[in-house]
Amino acid sequence: GLTNRLQSVFSKLKGKGKVTEDDVNEAMREVRLALLEADVNFKVVKEFIAKVKEKAIGQDVMKSFTPGMVIIDIVNKELTDLMGGSAAKLAKANKPPTVIMMAGLQGAGKTTTSAKLAKLLQKQNHKPLLVAADIYRPAAIKQLQVLGEQIKVPVFTLGDQANPVDIARQAMDHAREQHLDYVIIDTAGRLHIDEALMDELKQIHETVKPDEVLLVVDAMTGQDAVNVAESFNQQLTLTGVVLTKLDGDTRGGAALSVKAVTGCPIKFAALGEKIDALESFHPERMASRILGMGDMLSLIEKAQANIDADQAKEMERKMRNAEFTFDDFLEQMQQVKKLGPLDQILDMIPGMGKMKQQANMQVDERQMDRIEAIVRSMTSKERQDPDLINHSRRKRIATGSGTQLADVNRLIKQFDEMRRVMKQFSDMMGPKGPKMMKN
Ligand code: GDP
Ligand code: MG
Repeated sequence: GLTNRLQSVFSKLKGKGKVTEDDVNEAMREVRLALLEADVNFKVVKEFIAKVKEKAIGQDVMKSFTPGMVIIDIVNKELTDLMGGSAAKLAKANKPPTVIMMAGLQGAGKTTTSAKLAKLLQKQNHKPLLVAADIYRPAAIKQLQVLGEQIKVPVFTLGDQANPVDIARQAMDHAREQHLDYVIIDTAGRLHIDEALMDELKQIHETVKPDEVLLVVDAMTGQDAVNVAESFNQQLTLTGVVLTKLDGDTRGGAALSVKAVTGCPIKFAALGEKIDALESFHPERMASRILGMGDMLSLIEKAQANIDADQAKEMERKMRNAEFTFDDFLEQMQQVKKLGPLDQILDMIPGMGKMKQQANMQVDERQMDRIEAIVRSMTSKERQDPDLINHSRRKRIATGSGTQLADVNRLIKQFDEMRRVMKQFSDMMGPKGPKMMKN
């Protein structure tokens, strides 16, 4: 994938104390190939490479002490910019209700996303109304009703004999009467774009004057997703895009091209079929994820929702300052156990994804227990200062934890790698802390 390709380009650069212009050119060739392979629009790739090169020359990369890091930093910033810079907020009407119209091809995920969005808004203490304006797809209304029931959000429907424009209009009246502050209109899709579909959407648009027109696109369709976005945008001024199915085997091309091609920001990312698998889209985080730095900030956010806030803050600070010790590691393991599927969580920690692959690490609960036993067999001095742990200490720890010396060695090596990546990550974010937290 894109992440692996870029990581191997950068690990070549990182090892070098000095880079030549040839090194930079070669790295850029590799980045270009990696992006094209990830199905990023070729024009976007061309501009991207040109920008990175220009900046690399401007910053005199060759003279830097850490040329590899400088280049990664530039690529990271440009990737972030490409995807819109900072997270785009959902518009809000001056006078409620705020109207959100969902559009997109059949199967893109409009209905599912409508419900997910309603759930997100509900969590923020809003009162959304879901509107069933897809009268064509069999059982589309029922699908929305089932979802609405699941999340306890009202669903407005006039059945499948009514006109979608009338449905939308009456839903607005209903929302005002009931003092509901968001109206989410789930519209019909087709397998391809056609005039009848567009006309209907335009009519709904004229009638309800939405604050947001969100195009829902399937990220797995890569370049096609971008083409769809472009056509919709020509017909119906979009205000944002929702990328769905990012949990699938997507190569990342859609995420990287949509904003550049259409000018429309990606506002949400859907990462699964479950009703809470919708997140605000953060270009910085996506860029970090693509560059294999994990998605620490998402992890931290998730942790904050599930874990004691003070503890999470402290963890965040330690990660940033690379003051992470085995004690923290242990504590974090306890917390992580509470967070959910281990595989998913580990992938969010910088360096872990790569480590898992390299070590062909089996992530199962027993493995966790073994790791925990090893850490618990360390003295508290050793936990605070892992550099202390020499060969004889390792043997003692192995015996104490009922594991093999090789297990202990591996864990310490992995821990060092993790700290190294964290350090890198925090260096890249600069001494004033990451700009990415503000948005
Ligand atoms: P619509 O035709 O645009 O309304 O699409 P639906 O909302 O009915 O979704 C089509 C299919 O995609 C359903 O089976 C959904 O469960 C699935 N789906 C939607 N979003 C996601 C997502 O983010 N990830 C995955 N894996 N599946 C999704
Ligand atoms: Mg639908």
